[in-house]
Formats: sequence, structure tokens, C-alpha cells
Amino acid sequence: MAWPTSSAERAYLPPERTTLADLRSRPVTELPGVGPRIEAALGDLGVASLAEMVSYYPSRHEDLSNVKKISELRVGEKATVVARAVSTRPVGRPVRGRSPGFSVQLYDGTGYLPATVWGRNWLLKGLLPDTRVVVSGEVQRRYGIQLVAKSIEVIEEDLDGDTGPHAGRFVPVYPVNKGIQARRMRTLIHRALDAAGRILDPLPAEVLVRHNLPNLHDAIHEVHFPTDRAWLASAMRRLIFHELFLIQTGLAARKVRLEATQVGAVHTGDGSLLNPFVKELPFGLTAAQERVIGEVLTDMRSEKPMRRLLQGDVGSGKTVVAVAALLTAVESGGQGAIMAPTEVLAEQHYLSVSNALAHLPVNVTLLTGSQSTPERRAALGAIESGEAHIVVGTHALIQKGVEFDDLSVVVVDEQHRFGVGQRTLFKEKGRTHPDTLIMTATPIPRTLSLTLYGDLEVSIIDELPPGRKPVETRLVSLAERHDAYDEVRRELDAGRQAYVICPLVEESEALEDVRAAEELHEELEAEIFPDRRVGLLHGRMKATEKRAVMAAFRAGEIEVLVATVVVEVGVDVPNASAIVIEGSERFGLSQLHQLRGRVLRGHHPPKCFLLADPKTEDAEQRLEALTKYQDGFKLSEVDLAIRGEGTLFGSRQSGMPDLKVAKLLRDMDVLVEARREAFALVADDPTLKRPDHRPLRREVKDLLGADVDWLFRE
Ligand code: ADP
Ligand code: MG
Repeated sequence: MAWPTSSAERAYLPPERTTLADLRSRPVTELPGVGPRIEAALGDLGVASLAEMVSYYPSRHEDLSNVKKISELRVGEKATVVARAVSTRPVGRPVRGRSPGFSVQLYDGTGYLPATVWGRNWLLKGLLPDTRVVVSGEVQRRYGIQLVAKSIEVIEEDLDGDTGPHAGRFVPVYPVNKGIQARRMRTLIHRALDAAGRILDPLPAEVLVRHNLPNLHDAIHEVHFPTDRAWLASAMRRLIFHELFLIQTGLAARKVRLEATQVGAVHTGDGSLLNPFVKELPFGLTAAQERVIGEVLTDMRSEKPMRRLLQGDVGSGKTVVAVAALLTAVESGGQGAIMAPTEVLAEQHYLSVSNALAHLPVNVTLLTGSQSTPERRAALGAIESGEAHIVVGTHALIQKGVEFDDLSVVVVDEQHRFGVGQRTLFKEKGRTHPDTLIMTATPIPRTLSLTLYGDLEVSIIDELPPGRKPVETRLVSLAERHDAYDEVRRELDAGRQAYVICPLVEESEALEDVRAAEELHEELEAEIFPDRRVGLLHGRMKATEKRAVMAAFRAGEIEVLVATVVVEVGVDVPNASAIVIEGSERFGLSQLHQLRGRVLRGHHPPKCFLLADPKTEDAEQRLEALTKYQDGFKLSEVDLAIRGEGTLFGSRQSGMPDLKVAKLLRDMDVLVEARREAFALVADDPTLKRPDHRPLRREVKDLLGADVDWLFRE
């Protein structure tokens, strides 16, 4: 059949089916009423295409479903009327010459009714006689019958003629900016939905049926202009499911693809190094450590490359697990590498790993960015020849020019400090794909780890070594600052050591930060602890200086260490029993938890003093939470609840798209369902090549970006 071409004929066609991808290539300027000015205003809101337009969801709805004629109104009822303004007059007792409100006389053909509007006098100049308005409020009897308006809006007749999308229903309220008014936005979205036609659903119908979800077309329409509350709720549920499903599909595809295409090292280690290492430890492993080491070794023995996330709270003993993996690599004739986020931490790992392995025939080599040229050359040589069995380093490990002889396992410590992208950078360095273990102490709520790390296997150390005492955590006002330092002095008198953390100034290595640290150091040295040895550690110091300071602190020669957040992760000095955090209101919750973790490693009841002058409610809640909870997972949930979730995915680190509708804490159940469905679907059709899966593949690609193209190549 011949397709009609004139637009008049097209208007009579049944709506075509479009995909969201099609809509992405149609600019908003296609809509009547969008000229350059509106286009720019929409652009500021991130809306350039029809797809973005129809998925620009309202922040809330106003219930204008109860539109009544004036003659039908009853006293006491809440209602909306659509009428013409007849006249206006100020009401209430004027304050400094201005009335607190106004009254507008309305007429709708069935009767007259005054409406009283408080506190919105700026609306007056738009209410010329004969202007059409929508007014909602309560009908009250006061000086006769009147409508006390909760909302009043002018209807632009030139746009719609009738009330169109603006009344008689739940009316969407959109987040807008100066360049575009709420009403205009509503009209444009209404038009965009019309122009879009029938929107094709990329999700399989069975999935929708199983979860009782509306199709995408209906969901999008209903979320803008809902039929009723029930529809609105299921539309929202659908959109949340949709968003999480796409992300999980990407993760599932990644997991399946990597498992299918990569061959991991098969570790045949016989325990000849691991067993003596464990035996020589000054403590027995916790059950959780044993279990997790078992999980890691199972992965390492198989041909499937290990891709495992190890979560364990601060101080739970993740390092031992890392060393177990590294030793297994060496036993099996390979090399192991462990990458730390800071030089301080890399050096510390280097020291503790070499000490712990001193009795074993294992060469441990350090590689950091700040080594001297001869040091570096020697390290690179040993790494390339295989003479270095275990390499401890920073980012320097993944830079060009670092060639391993046979790297078979990689441990990434404190993953939260690295971008997710870096997880894969070791790819080209070994003969086979090295097994990878990612360790993080940033407690991540389960929902979040399913999303951020949803393509990894997860091991959890859910138990602290025995005998750990909770850190007594106190909030200290500026007035009590000296009392806190008096308590620290008592710790020092008992032969223990303390950290004093400087307030955070922007980036930890900024110059001001250094100055602040130096000032605090001077104050402590000159005024508070003149009789004690006070050291200083900050990010701008040379590596050799840092090393010397850490060594002196470890040896007990420095009793009080003033430090910027460089000690945040992993530094381990068991004799330190107190930590003072100056300006603690400026730190994030997980950062504070990490810092506090510096003092729970010893045998003495540890103390943490949060010096604070909290100026915001958020800061107060964060600090309160720390005094209440020791458990990192609990704290991470509190954190998520306080901060809201935008910050998590927006961050450069996450490598994940922003969530637009889903909220991880609230939507945990939906996430689990979406994940199960997505993984099942991908197990069946890993590259989504089935014709009915193509639209889904397109959506996943468009959401996750060019990075995922390789997942779907056949
Ligand atoms: P994290 O998980 O924060 O990296 P570490 O691996 O640094 O923790 O361990 C913290 C401290 O606990 C270290 O001093 C370590 O020697 C000690 N430790 C680890 N495992 C045990 C255990 N099973 N029993 C007692 N102490 C342990
Ligand atoms: Mg650690």
C-alpha cells in the first residue's frame, strides 16, 4: 500500500510506533511554540530532544481533578473552578502600605464567586478582567461564600483554547527555570507526547506481566497526566523498574561477556607459602576471614577469571585476605600485585607485607610514582624479569612501561578511591587475564553495591577480630576543645599515641590545607603538648619525608601525629588509641568512619573526639550518627539517607548513569526484581541479538554510553 504523505492524511493514520531512540533524534524545535528562546531555556534543563522532553518527569502533581461549576459548590468542600476574572481588590489590613492578599471575583457562566488569595500579590498584574483562571481551594462561608485559594493559575488561551492539560485532573508540576514557565512546560510536554505517537516498549511483555507493570507508553503518559492515583503509582513503579532494569542488563551483559571471553590464570598453588604465612600470624583468622579466603582461592583455582569484590568494615582484616591471594599466585608460579590509593598506604602495605613474609622465600617490591630513577629502574627490572614475586604500588603500577613477567592476581585496595574504570586497566598486562580482587572498606549498602559493582561476585567479612572495643566517640564543642586534649594527654601519659586530623580544606593537597596543617601542628607543639613529640604529615610532603614521619610514628618516636586526610585509609599503628578530628563537621560520614578506624586496632579502649561546630542539620545528623553507631554498613545507610542519592551516581567515580527516578534505599525491592529479570534475560541472549531484544539493546547502549558497545558485538 502507498503511504499517504500529506500531513492531513497522516493525521488519520493510527499512531506509528516509535522507540525512545527515535525520539532522541527529534529536536524539540519540531514542536509548535519552540523558538530559539524556548529551545535555549529547555537546553538549560537538559532537554534537547523529544525523548528528553517526554522523560522530563514532574516533581509532583496537583490534584485538580475535582473541577466544579460555581453553582454546584458546597461550603466546606475542596474544589477547583475554571472561570474568568471579573475584577480584583486588595483584602486584609495593609502592612506598610501593602495589602497581604487580594480577592478576585470569578464568573463561570453559572454564577459569581469571590476567591481570596493570600500572599501572592505579584499575580495581580496578570489578572486583567476576562482572564481565564484555574483556582483550587476550599469553599468557606466568611462574609458570604468564597473560595480560599490554595493555587491560582492563569490559562493562556492562545495556547490551548480549552483548559487542556492544565485542569480537570492531576496536574503535573515540573521543575523549571527562569526561561520557561511551569505552564509552558506542561503544554510543551503535552504536545511532545502527542508528537511522539505510540512509544514502543523495549522490555519483554512477559516481564511486565510477571511484575504487573504497565507498558512504557502508558507509564510515560500516566506519569505526566495521570488518570488517577493508582495509575500514577503504577506508572512510577514501571519507570523505576525500567531504569534499574536497563542498568542491570548492562551489568549482566558485562559479566557474561567477560566470563565468556576471558581466560583467567588457573592457580595450582599447594599452600607451601600460604600455610606457613597463616601459621606465623600472631593471631588466628576469624571465621569470616577463613570463609572469604576460601571463596577467593576457589575463584583462583578455576579458569574463570576472578572478579570479586571484598567488602569488610574498617579493621576487619582484609589485608590478610589480600596476602593470601598474592601468595597463592606466587605458589602457582605467577606474580601478584596490590594497588593502593595513596603512597602512604602503599608504603605501609609494603612494610607490613614484607615483614609478614620475611620468613618466606618471597620477594616483595615497591613501585610508586615518587621513587628515584635508580630505585624505579631496579623495581621495573625485577617486575619484568619475574624476580619480584609480589609488587606493592600506587597508580604507578598501571602506567605505561610497567611490564610484568606473569601477573596472575591483582588486588585493588580501598577501591572507593579509584574510579571504577580503573578496575579493568590491568587487562593487557599479563599473559592471561589476571584474577582481580577489589577490596573496599567504604561500607556500601547492599542496594548500592548491587548497582555499582553489580557485575562482580561479592565476599563480605562480617565479623571483626575478637576483642575489638567500640571506639568511644564524643562530640566536642569548641568550648570543650581543651578538655578533649586533656584526655588525649592522659592517653599519652599511659604510653599510647594519638592522631590529630586537620580540618578539611577543599582538596586534601591544596596549599591552604598545608598551611592549616602547619598552623595546627605549631599550636599543638607550642601550646597544647609542648612536652611531647608532635609530628606532621600532609599530602604536599616529599615521599621520603612522609616515609620518615610514618616510620617515626610507628616506632613511637612521634607521639602525636598531626595529619591531613592522607591517613584516612588503611594506616595501621596499633599503639594509637586516640584520634581528634578538628573541624569534623566538614568531613563526610564515611570519611569520619574511616578516620575513626585508625584507632580500633590496638588493645586499649579507643577514643575519638569529634571537634565540631556544626552549622547545618546534615552535619549534625552525621556526627550524631557516629556517636551512635560503630557499624559501617549501618552508617552507610544513614549517610545515604542524609545525603540523598544524587551524589552517589553523579560522582565521577561511579561510572554509572544518574538515577532519574529510582531511589536505592526506597526501591531496594524493585532493584532485586529488576536484577533477577535482567540477569535471566541476558543468560538467555547474552548479546541481546534476538529481534525482539534489539530495542532493549539500543536503550542499554544509549543509557550506558559508548563504553558498552563491545558487550553487544556478536
Ligand atoms: P582492614 O580491613 O581495615 O584493611 P587490616 O587488614 O589492616 O584491616 O587489619 C586491621 C588490624 O587487625 C591489623 O593490625 C591486623 O594485623 C589485625 N588483624 C587482622 N586479622 C586479625 C585477626 N583475625 N585477629 C586479630 N587481629 C587481626
Ligand atoms: Mg586495609
